[in-house]
Amino acid sequence: MAGTNTENPYHIAQSRIRKTVERLGMSQSVYERLKSPDRIVEASICIEMDSGRLKSFKGYRSQHNNAFGPYKGGIRFAPEVTADEVKALSIWMTLKCVIAGIPLGGGKGGITCNPREMSQNEIERLSRGYIRQMESVLGGKIDIPAPDVNTNPQVMAWMMDEIQNMNGRRSEPSVMTGKPVELGGSPGRIDATARGGCYAAREAAKSIGVDTEGASVAIHGFGNAGRYAALLSEELLGCKIVAVSDSRGGVLNENGLDAKSLVRHKIDTGTVEGYDKATAISNSELLELPVDILYPAALENAITAANAPDVKAKILCELANGPVTPEADDILETKGVLLLPDLLANSGGVIVSYFEWLQNGWGKEKTAEELDRKITEAFHRLNNYRLSVKEERITIRQAAYMYAVQRLAETMRLRGWGDF
Ligand code: NAD
Repeated sequence: MAGTNTENPYHIAQSRIRKTVERLGMSQSVYERLKSPDRIVEASICIEMDSGRLKSFKGYRSQHNNAFGPYKGGIRFAPEVTADEVKALSIWMTLKCVIAGIPLGGGKGGITCNPREMSQNEIERLSRGYIRQMESVLGGKIDIPAPDVNTNPQVMAWMMDEIQNMNGRRSEPSVMTGKPVELGGSPGRIDATARGGCYAAREAAKSIGVDTEGASVAIHGFGNAGRYAALLSEELLGCKIVAVSDSRGGVLNENGLDAKSLVRHKIDTGTVEGYDKATAISNSELLELPVDILYPAALENAITAANAPDVKAKILCELANGPVTPEADDILETKGVLLLPDLLANSGGVIVSYFEWLQNGWGKEKTAEELDRKITEAFHRLNNYRLSVKEERITIRQAAYMYAVQRLAETMRLRGWGDF
């Protein structure tokens, strides 16, 4: 989805920071320091395919800013991965950690590949190949990867194991988060992004007087974030899931879909399409449904100036990174849609990754409780910040950027990185 020049996520991230620095009347040096990553590593990863032929893939790791702590961010495997996409995602990670109040910086990685066309053995060789190229820039106190689009605890386990192979068998569990629970992973990591999104949606609904019990929900993207959003919106908030979609298409039932059986159907068939207790719906139709809560949970730029005028959701909770373009933001704001920005709404993943990195040994319940506390605090911090700006009406996204950029500037000044 990322791609066209005007919708390049890196340019979007840079432009949002530039506008924030201007809005805050801060020195241009703050923009200079934040506009690009500290370092980006680009590698060619050559692996043997099952056919016996060699194939090379482009891999990236972007380390944006470590003023608050080690670089932190997922690794995605997808055909759309580009250097610019990874750079944008690393900028957003920096800001997200500040907003969540966790002492980590921003990083992100990716490999341009199509895992759907690869065997598990090929994916393992690719994961290990990525580490062989990137190991020198990673480490529990340097840069800590995690899962993202099309990567999972198994990929993290292979990557951690390869790092151990390269380090003379020295064990370093904190080098990766999102690991299988058996290898020191947090029991709450698998659903953390969606869980955090549900907590944020709950607080937002309360703030505008919407009762989540029976509230209608549509979900765009039914992968890790999307499918847990369906399960947990039902379980934690009492919502009614009316529509879900994935890259192949979507399904709708205005009387409610059963999240558990939909997940089962997706696991069995690889798609939500063809689910029998619903009618077919396209991805664009799903985004325009008149629902209480819409979760974009796929990739960037799902909502642009072209379709934003037709969005009818009351609350839009960005589980994906960068699903709404700046032009679409303005349109949604005039339409009165309450938008929970990615920097807040999908920070559950990195928050629970932080718990795992600390190796605190918390169980699922304690992890969920602490996550709830952190996301609820973050929502109110941003909402109060927004209301405290008297000179103009600002959105929660603008408040998120302003809060994060101010905190970063203070921290970078204390470190002596500039007179900000
Ligand atoms: P995933 O690969 O598990 O799922 C992605 C889903 O999106 C799949 O169901 C896929 O079919 C669907 N999709 C892809 N292209 C689509 C299209 N054009 N239209 C509709 N659906 C489409 O990935 P994920 O881990 O769930 O991540 C999804 C988003 O959430 C990404 O933006 C990611 O950066 C963000 N996110 C994920 C995590 C996490 O912990 N997994 C954390 C923070 C943010």
